[in-house]
Amino acid sequence: MPPELLPYITLLLLGGGLSSFLGIYALVKIRRAAGARHFIAASFLAAVFTFAYAAELSSDTLREIRFWAAVEYLALPFIPLFVLFLCIEYTGKKVPWRWLPLLAAAPVMTLVLNWTNPLHHLYYTSVTLREDSPFPIADFEPGPWLYVNYLYVYTCLAAAAAVLLRQFRKMQRPFRLQALTMISGISIPLVSSLFYLTGSSPYGIDLGAVSLSLTFLFIGAALFSFQMFDVVPIARDSVFESMADGVLVISEGQLVVDFNPAAAKVLPELEIGKKVEEVLSADHPLAVILDGGQDGDFSITKNGAERNFNARLSAVRNKYSRQIGRIVTLVDVTERVRIQEKMTQLASIDGLTQVLNRTFFIQETGRALGHSRRAVLILFDLDYFKNINDTYGHAAGDQVLIQTMETVKACLGPDDLLGRYGGEEFIILLPDATLEKGFARAEKIRLEIERQSIQAEGQEIRVTSSFGVAAADWTDGKAPDALELMRQADKVLYEAKENGRNCVYVFGTGSDFLRLC
Ligand code: GH3
Ligand code: MG
Ligand code: MG
Repeated sequence: MPPELLPYITLLLLGGGLSSFLGIYALVKIRRAAGARHFIAASFLAAVFTFAYAAELSSDTLREIRFWAAVEYLALPFIPLFVLFLCIEYTGKKVPWRWLPLLAAAPVMTLVLNWTNPLHHLYYTSVTLREDSPFPIADFEPGPWLYVNYLYVYTCLAAAAAVLLRQFRKMQRPFRLQALTMISGISIPLVSSLFYLTGSSPYGIDLGAVSLSLTFLFIGAALFSFQMFDVVPIARDSVFESMADGVLVISEGQLVVDFNPAAAKVLPELEIGKKVEEVLSADHPLAVILDGGQDGDFSITKNGAERNFNARLSAVRNKYSRQIGRIVTLVDVTERVRIQEKMTQLASIDGLTQVLNRTFFIQETGRALGHSRRAVLILFDLDYFKNINDTYGHAAGDQVLIQTMETVKACLGPDDLLGRYGGEEFIILLPDATLEKGFARAEKIRLEIERQSIQAEGQEIRVTSSFGVAAADWTDGKAPDALELMRQADKVLYEAKENGRNCVYVFGTGSDFLRLC
């Protein structure tokens, strides 16, 4: 080998060795990091190219040179594509695989045209041995496709740099340095191939080969030095940006420091740099939660629909454990709340008649009594219902219960409660009603039930009912016990049954039972 060539061959062998080492190192250490697989593929391809170029330079004949050049083209045309993919994945984006056939068409064409060049001379118009060099080196006269290939290489590398630069603005400082390192790495082959193309490289040696390993050294340094093995720093941003949960960062001085698009959707009034109290009114449910310093649920009505959120507060501390702010996570729990409401409803409603079940009725009555100063409780039971079942069948009996409840509901106001006490016995609470009003209502319901005609199993069924009414007035005192009122109503209902049915009996305060029908 001529001594002039020795430094270049040594450089190329070192470069090839370096690329191989980076590929193996990445394979072992950061295989799963974002962009790593493209980095591995590209470094191995760079190694193949560099070694083949070293072999080409040390070749003695044009035939040998052509052979090694053909080997180089197995690797070279595909490297820019992997660099582009590497940068796309590194920035947390998805590689557009559906464009792969289009993106890979040019390098495949380059490979084919290079191999079949003697047939068409589209890649090189001529390949001759240079006469001005002290060692055999080929002079490739560029054909049209060579320029296409260069255009492709530049476009891919420029696109890779653009992908990094686009993210640059959003990156934090150390990651900016990392991205700059990568951009520098990408620029190296661009600059060195300019030397080659303008004919200013020594003996026409393509320095691009050596520079490629430097590229991967730069990119590798960026990838390895920041230990982005599992979490990609820039992907952190895209995770934050694309999170379904809203995230809001508030400083100790109550300034809105950062928030993601999901948080902006929930709270369009948010603005970075403004105080929380400037963007949320004092009575805003989230402002109340922030004030209380405890996690909590709140709801917001948007476009007429109510959405429920769970706000979770967590402290941000500096390295001295001093709290320097808070992170507020807003999780949309609308579905969960809806399911809970549905379950509560299922647990509170009688399946057949769709009125409150006994347990829930008692619970709701207790609550209603707490908010009123008087109330009337009406207990009623269908008369001779057993006969209806026996005569028309159980299904018809069910139909009677369902329809009777519809009739009763039509007689009640929005605040009145209606429940199934058991079997064919039902219960009503009229909050804030007087005894007279309660009696009148019971009488109206009795008449409506008597009047209704129920069609079931192809027959007309009529039914009557007996009522027990109990009233309480505690304007100055304590609300009565709901169960006590029920006992009173039950007592007079028994009287109504005993004394002919289809009537209303009222429990008189301290006196006898009143029959008021
Ligand atoms: P009374 O006038 O004294 O109340 O006579 P009754 O026949 O209505 O009284 P009883 O309590 O002896 O009978 C109630 C019947 O109601 C017994 C039971 O089979 C029937 N029943 C209870 N729950 C249901 C139901 O969900 N569907 C149907 N079809 N029948 C029911
Ligand atoms: Mg009955
Ligand atoms: Mg009964």
